[in-house]
Amino acid sequence: MDDSGPKTERGPLTDYDVVIIGAGPAGLSAGIYARRAGMSCIILEKGVPGGQVLTSPKIENYPGFPEIEGMKLMDVMAEHARMYVDIREGEEVTRLVRSGERFEFTTTNGRYSSRAVILATGSFHRKLDVEGEERLSGRGVSYCATCDGFFFKKKKVVVVGGGNTALTDALYLHSMGCEVSIAHRRDAFRADRHLQDSVADRSIAILWDTVVEEIVGENEVTAVKLRNVKTGAVDTKPVSGVFVAVGEVPSSQLAAELGVRMDPGGFVTVDMSFRTNVPNVYAAGDVAGGIRQIVAAVHGGAAAALSAFEDLAKPYYSRSGG
Ligand code: NAP
Repeated sequence: MDDSGPKTERGPLTDYDVVIIGAGPAGLSAGIYARRAGMSCIILEKGVPGGQVLTSPKIENYPGFPEIEGMKLMDVMAEHARMYVDIREGEEVTRLVRSGERFEFTTTNGRYSSRAVILATGSFHRKLDVEGEERLSGRGVSYCATCDGFFFKKKKVVVVGGGNTALTDALYLHSMGCEVSIAHRRDAFRADRHLQDSVADRSIAILWDTVVEEIVGENEVTAVKLRNVKTGAVDTKPVSGVFVAVGEVPSSQLAAELGVRMDPGGFVTVDMSFRTNVPNVYAAGDVAGGIRQIVAAVHGGAAAALSAFEDLAKPYYSRSGG
């Protein structure tokens, strides 16, 4: 790789075989596999390596680590990836275009070009979109129990949602001594049975068929207005914290700029080799949907890198199936 790169009117472009966007489990795994396959590569990460896993208090289903904090696991993974690949932290891709046979990236810190792109951009927290949510965000409204739980020790909190995140958060907050209720819009959780059993074991209160109508408070959260969707009854429950855990929205804006096909939810559509419909563009991890597990992201990143290697090494072979 030539680090000086061709000069253009808009500044130097640094060339790589593959540029990976995002340093969560998918991007880090892709970086390791890309470099080990002999391709030049960087990972561009707008924040710090780790992605959403950083906010998981406890991971118990990543093989080899029976129980580990999300932050710790991602430290280990990022350290491993750094042995192979440069991770550009705090460098956000602001523009991504195809230019002939290459892709050109403009970031907050430079310009790059590559022959292939792996999108590992992840997802972000879905909002409730109710009165008070935005205004009181960071003042009692939180999307991350691990990050903020400490401030709610022994206080009354409500967790909203019925998936693995909601139940994991509820258990974490309960372990911090919070008085926890879970408000869920249906009468059944989609979370793993094992988490449901743990919630039942700890007698955490569950408000079934309940949605948040409003988050109440002047400068900080003091209550939450809840509505039972079956009876229509509205109840104002005094709480200090509202932990919103109602799922993820894919970060697929850059994919859209490349004309990559997506499903109605905005998740990038990939084949079993993690190729998108656009040649030499791959996607892995949460942005590509699926089961959204660390093992799946790690698999996707590795497979995407190996597909890129195949396509760059034999450009007329792999796609024709010949
Ligand atoms: P999720 O599985 O999509 O669950 C989102 C929950 O929020 C659902 O219960 C959903 O209700 C509810 N919801 C969605 N929109 C809502 C709205 N506007 N108002 C009220 N409720 C709403 O999301 P997640 O729990 O964040 O999990 C995301 C992925 O990460 C999943 O694949 C999950 O398995 C994985 N994950 C795994 C672990 C683990 O294995 N330890 C931990 C965390 C997350 P409905 O059920 O009615 O749709």
